[in-house]
Amino acid sequence: MGFLYRSTRNSEETATASEAILKGLANEGGLFVPDEIPELDVSFEELSKMNYREVAFEVMKLMLTDFTDEELRYCINSAYDSKFDNELIVPVKYHHGAYIMELFHGKTIAFKDMALSILPYLMTTAARKNNISNEIVILTATSGDTGKAALAGFADVPGTKIAVFYPKNGVSPIQEKQMVTERGKNTFVAGITGNFDDAQTGVKLMFQDKALNEELNSKGFQFSSANSINIGRLVPQIVYYVYSYTRLIASGKIKAGDKINVVVPTGNFGNILAAYYASLMGVPVDRFICASNDNKVLYDFFTTGTYDRNRDFILTSSPSMDILISSNLERLIYRIAGNSAEDNAEFMKQLSETGRYKITDQMKKNLFHFYGNFATSDEVAKTIRKVYDEDGYVIDTHTAVAVNVYDKFKEETGDKDTPTLIASTASPYKFTRSVMTAINPAYDAKGDFELVDELARLSAVKIPQAIEDIRSAEVLHKTVCDKEDMEKVVKGFLGI
Ligand SMILES: *Cc1c(COP(=O)(O)O)cnc(C)c1O
Repeated sequence: MGFLYRSTRNSEETATASEAILKGLANEGGLFVPDEIPELDVSFEELSKMNYREVAFEVMKLMLTDFTDEELRYCINSAYDSKFDNELIVPVKYHHGAYIMELFHGKTIAFKDMALSILPYLMTTAARKNNISNEIVILTATSGDTGKAALAGFADVPGTKIAVFYPKNGVSPIQEKQMVTERGKNTFVAGITGNFDDAQTGVKLMFQDKALNEELNSKGFQFSSANSINIGRLVPQIVYYVYSYTRLIASGKIKAGDKINVVVPTGNFGNILAAYYASLMGVPVDRFICASNDNKVLYDFFTTGTYDRNRDFILTSSPSMDILISSNLERLIYRIAGNSAEDNAEFMKQLSETGRYKITDQMKKNLFHFYGNFATSDEVAKTIRKVYDEDGYVIDTHTAVAVNVYDKFKEETGDKDTPTLIASTASPYKFTRSVMTAINPAYDAKGDFELVDELARLSAVKIPQAIEDIRSAEVLHKTVCDKEDMEKVVKGFLGI
């Protein structure tokens, strides 16, 4: 068996890959990180001839070291199949001078499907490997997209239940409708009167509550997480960076070994961290361009070295990135602190006590390959319009944050030539109102589904099944609760 995973807050706490997936979060609020990040052991030439599933196997076998080849192939083949509406799984398209990696061809039309299509298989396989007889209760906080993707993945999966909390007034109408119409018998969805950070903090508190966990255990349940704090989310996200890089080789756009930049619209820092892990596995990435919206805590961090969440939470047109506590940044902090759990734990303690921490100069030097910038909602709208005017391609608001920041990066650094991959994290159909009014403000007078039909006409992209499914679906989840009552409603859901 290969390397272990270790807590970012306590170097004594280790887990195998399957144990880490089952637990989700380490004790004391730490996150599991791999002790090693192995280099790819097949060449880019070989990888460029493989399909998505084959590349996924080559990447994931190196990271999930206690899964057998057979188990992994079963998980991968079950996840990346005709649920995706494009047989490439992740098509890479060229627009606005960059390669757009379309990560939204899964069941719920956001990039969260890339990992959440496979997580239920990894989780149930891990439970079997570790002789777990408890029912696994997935607790999820969502800024809009994780919720539905996790619901779709775990719906009616035997041995699991899933509870999702979303900010009642902080998601798009389509995102909300997708969640509250979920039909899986083992699902529970609640809006909370608070923002995403409140939801995420509430969930983390339940994970860390020893008494609650013991009570659950005595009733035959145990918690796990479908948020990107779970390495079972992160590892599958490494795959599409390797895959997209090798697609550029396969199509003759670059040669194996050529450097690229990646631009990632960022919230909880999971997606861009996966890009970073992909580079440690061998994908030659020059700059990681971290794109934020008006909640620009990460831009400030990369420019000043101080992380400071003491500021107003702003509702933007890219709600899935409305976050002030980017959980996965902790994994990067741990690494640039020389894999020091002690130093990292101290920073995280400061963050929870004062809302801020400042990294050392040496740590800041280690961030050289990261670049941060941000786009306002107004700039996002202009960018959607501009890209549409260029060649009729319609991007969603989150992707537009990335495109706008890429333009700023080129302007600021003068690097206009390095081939660049932009992560396109959601279908424009998920944020139809913001997207259509960006193209023409007059659209605001129309209804949500009229806008869907208009977008189909305008973009010549077929309406995704995920949207057709909710047109006339019945609302089944009506719970709204205060953030203080999250534990109570979870217990109600479990009948304990
Ligand atoms: C979740 C999400 C993001 C942010 O991804 P992180 O991994 O949390 O940084 C960006 N765009 C969309 C559409 C998302 O759903």
